[in-house]
Amino acid sequence: MHEFALCEAIAGVVRTHADGRHVDVVRVRVGALRQVVPESLSFCWTLVRESENMADAELELECVTAEVRCRACGRQSELTSAWLIWCPHCDSPDVEVLRGNEFLVTSLDVS
Ligand SMILES: [Zn+2]
Repeated sequence: MHEFALCEAIAGVVRTHADGRHVDVVRVRVGALRQVVPESLSFCWTLVRESENMADAELELECVTAEVRCRACGRQSELTSAWLIWCPHCDSPDVEVLRGNEFLVTSLDVS
């Protein structure tokens, strides 16, 4: 499962940064192009955090919409779908992805 592997990756980062302290909140930024299902990610997190000995660490997701710049017409647009990566103005597939590929732990609350 895609989301399960991502949660294990999150847990690995958290473990390193928490360095033995109690973790209250984990904030993760996810770009739309990652095609992550938030509900699925949250569910997998409840499984992974148990096995990682941080059973009450809450996962907060910050979802980032995808944005592209078109090399054909030069316009910048937000994508409404993570599966159709082309320019909504001129339909060119020759686009540069400006954001939407993020997947990172942005901050932790520890106590
Ligand atoms: Zn275009």
